[in-house]
Amino acid sequence: MPEAARRARKMTIVAQDPSVTDDDDNIVVAQVDVPVDLLEPGPRGQRFHVVDYDATQGVLLPPVDLRDPAVDDWQRSWSYLDRFVGADNERLMSDPEFHAQNVYAIASRTLAAFELALGRRLAWAFGGHQMYLVPHAFSEANAHYAGDDRGVFFGYLELGDDRIYTCLSHDIVAHETTHAILDGLRPRFIEPSLPDQAAFHEAFADIVALLSVFSVGSLIETVLGKSDARGRIPAERVERTRLERTALFTLAEQFGEATSGVRGSALRRSLELAPNDDWRRDLAFEEPHRRGEVVVAAVMRALISMWCKRLEALVHRGGLDRERAAEEGAKAAEHLLQMAIRAIDYAPAVELEFEDFIDALLVSDQVVAPDDVHGYRESVAAAFAAFGIVPPQAQIVDLAEQPLIYDGLNFIALRSDEDEVFRFVWQNADRLEIDRRYYLRVEAVRPSVRVGPDGLVVNEVVADYVQTLNVTAAEATALGLAIAPDLEPMTEIQLWGGGTLIFDQFGMAKFHQRKRLDDWERQSRRVDYLLRHGYFDTRGRLGFSLGTPLGMRFAEFHEPNARAGEDW
Ligand SMILES: [Zn+2]
Repeated sequence: MPEAARRARKMTIVAQDPSVTDDDDNIVVAQVDVPVDLLEPGPRGQRFHVVDYDATQGVLLPPVDLRDPAVDDWQRSWSYLDRFVGADNERLMSDPEFHAQNVYAIASRTLAAFELALGRRLAWAFGGHQMYLVPHAFSEANAHYAGDDRGVFFGYLELGDDRIYTCLSHDIVAHETTHAILDGLRPRFIEPSLPDQAAFHEAFADIVALLSVFSVGSLIETVLGKSDARGRIPAERVERTRLERTALFTLAEQFGEATSGVRGSALRRSLELAPNDDWRRDLAFEEPHRRGEVVVAAVMRALISMWCKRLEALVHRGGLDRERAAEEGAKAAEHLLQMAIRAIDYAPAVELEFEDFIDALLVSDQVVAPDDVHGYRESVAAAFAAFGIVPPQAQIVDLAEQPLIYDGLNFIALRSDEDEVFRFVWQNADRLEIDRRYYLRVEAVRPSVRVGPDGLVVNEVVADYVQTLNVTAAEATALGLAIAPDLEPMTEIQLWGGGTLIFDQFGMAKFHQRKRLDDWERQSRRVDYLLRHGYFDTRGRLGFSLGTPLGMRFAEFHEPNARAGEDW
């Protein structure tokens, strides 16, 4: 088969990071599926461009050619040769060509997981088609996504003669790539809002990283411990409490162990969180990273439940096959990753709260997997409920039974045209309970094709709109917001609302996820939060859009984290 006709090729990556080794002290590697792409030297494909420029040293290394030299010139660009199969630790650690392959493969695999789950190409927030990946960007144990520089930058740490590379850490590469993808999908998630929204950006990047790492079977095998000569392990190893305490904790310790330990400690702390809703009353949990751990913890507990359900059938005569047990874990992780990604389309475009995420996850999954044969939704809902995160009442409205006005609409245009969707919203505003008095703008219209686990194909169009209202503190109080008396009455405040409309393949609206602008209770909580943390802009206003050009904003968003020493 010609290479261009294949869908995936196998590339060697470091399974987690170089500190994770097998029984023989070899770094655990894996050959993972990466979508086939026409590869120019760099490697440079249609979505990613690896540039090995080190700003600290001022050194630019030549582009890496991953193509197969044995293939004829005219079709070499479609070829690829994995030259790192069986490479020793020394080579994996020191060969910049391997580092280039590692970031390219993991970033491509992460993007592929999103495109598979959502059934469409995803755009970068900065507008171009190709994002830079810079594997040795600077001398610092840090990595970040910077939209204004159109790339993800990976640092390294020098410890005596040793160098520790963030570009060799699977979870760091997946985490940063996820920030970039989510910024493209939901650019309003970085607007000043309730603490959940910023926390969610971090939590989601961690969730994708964790599930991506967990879907590498060879790694879970290592975590499950040694097997006997027949490849079997005792059943006690896969008991729920043991998997929670041992397997995930082992992974958590290894997460970021080689770098500063920051990532590892975040994951560890999320596992130590008792499943209750105390975090809601604890001011420490207003800090976005800390708050994000709650969602990470819920997802990890859901993963364990799903894995345990799959393992039940494997145990017999007191033992089970280690490889199969690992495979089941990888499958559960892959499935949960798809569920989490699909939820993003059903999440509101602005003012996201944790409740909205679980709501969106359950509703979107029900559309593609109506039967939930394995009880996955039940596992996820229970894990979130344990932390007091339950879907809000009637926030996602089923529009199937609603008499809506489709007069004058062009169904073809409705699939891609913001103005056409605006017409629909405008003429149905009353029925959709959208207040026409507030500024309203349809910001994105995207087609989506999702395939459920049993092959059910669901064609949809996802349209986002936002609403804003600029008021003074005094006017806000008159509207019904509870505003602290010490806020100067003439302070300008920007209030946000919005929603997401899901249309079926015939252009009929089927769901409406809404965060109403006139929800004064939520607006009061938001203003209170922004005020208590002093989040005024340079003009002394509260809650206004960051207003910086697209792509600039993420660097600003991450800046406070850099100060806290939690750069990724
Ligand atoms: Zn981050």
